[in-house]
Amino acid sequence: MTRAWVEVDLAALRRNGAAVSARAGVPLLPMVKADGYGLGALHVALALEELSPWGYGVATVAEGEELRRGGITRPIIVFTPILRTEIDAMRRADLTPGLGDPAVMESWARTGRDWHLQIDTGMSRAGLRWDRMSWYRDILVRTRPAGVFTHFHSADLDDGSREQQEARFEEALAELPERPALIHAENGPAVEANAPSRWSLCRPGIFLYGVASRVGGALVPEPVVALRARIVEIRTLSEGDTVSYGATWRAPGERRIATVPVGYADGYRRALGNRGVALLGGHRIHVAGRVTMDMTMLDVTDTDAALGDVVTLLGHDGDDVITVSELAELGELSPYELLTGLRTRLPRVHREAEESEAAA
Ligand SMILES: *Cc1c(COP(=O)(O)O)cnc(C)c1O
Repeated sequence: MTRAWVEVDLAALRRNGAAVSARAGVPLLPMVKADGYGLGALHVALALEELSPWGYGVATVAEGEELRRGGITRPIIVFTPILRTEIDAMRRADLTPGLGDPAVMESWARTGRDWHLQIDTGMSRAGLRWDRMSWYRDILVRTRPAGVFTHFHSADLDDGSREQQEARFEEALAELPERPALIHAENGPAVEANAPSRWSLCRPGIFLYGVASRVGGALVPEPVVALRARIVEIRTLSEGDTVSYGATWRAPGERRIATVPVGYADGYRRALGNRGVALLGGHRIHVAGRVTMDMTMLDVTDTDAALGDVVTLLGHDGDDVITVSELAELGELSPYELLTGLRTRLPRVHREAEESEAAA
């Protein structure tokens, strides 16, 4: 029997993808890097196939190879810069690099295969700087990128930085010997903020996995992830008894405390100690004391909790839901870190919504 697991609702994921694509008005280049933000890259990509995405985005050669082994045949772009020593493996797996280093661009061009040029418009992470394009004109004439892209550093904010980066991107595009057929810039938060797209593809990531970057925006994602665990012990505490390391939680009276077998080594972060909430039988329950490596304690006083009952630490239970955003905020964490931090000790259970509704 599974004691603790991560559920992934693939039908909700697909609906989120369809919603982004409809708002952007362009095909998707879904970002499935970091193992699909921790949810299983191949499962995610296969679920999104129905939407006919243009291709998929990953961070590393190994991530691209995994998708190829799983039968994905669409273009796969590796967005983190590759080294020249990785070119052979890239070719063997038929992967497309996003490049920004002139020496690597020259080497890749000798393969005769497609690549996308990254323009750095303010992120200072990867890509040719927008204001140095003229330096590289000769290389670009020789190497001819099939696509060109940039990345916004603050698409979740309405601070004018996006407009500035777009203007820089346009400036760089004008310096190219020819305008490539594929031009892309928007991540999920950028599509949420502004649509339709002025480019040819959009690159959502976190939105697909159920996380919005703004409250009250035009696009609202459905939750995709649930983290559930069974109660493995329950005890009754007397007034003054303490819970967990550091004795930071003290019973104000008689209290029932349940232990679930999930801890920070599973990615249920230590920052959630005395702050996290969970769902059980229609109640909201609270984390008591520090989260430990393998176990977390919850105050179940107002519930009829019993051994073996399933606690929802993240996701839907009945009509209530704890979203990744809500839990992240409680721990003052980044939702990206919380999601990608869920570790593989927790088995992933991939579902289509029909099944989970039938099971509920
Ligand atoms: C991760 C990433 C994205 C997706 O970003 P989200 O904020 O998750 O939507 C898009 N483009 C690039 C280059 C990325 O690295």
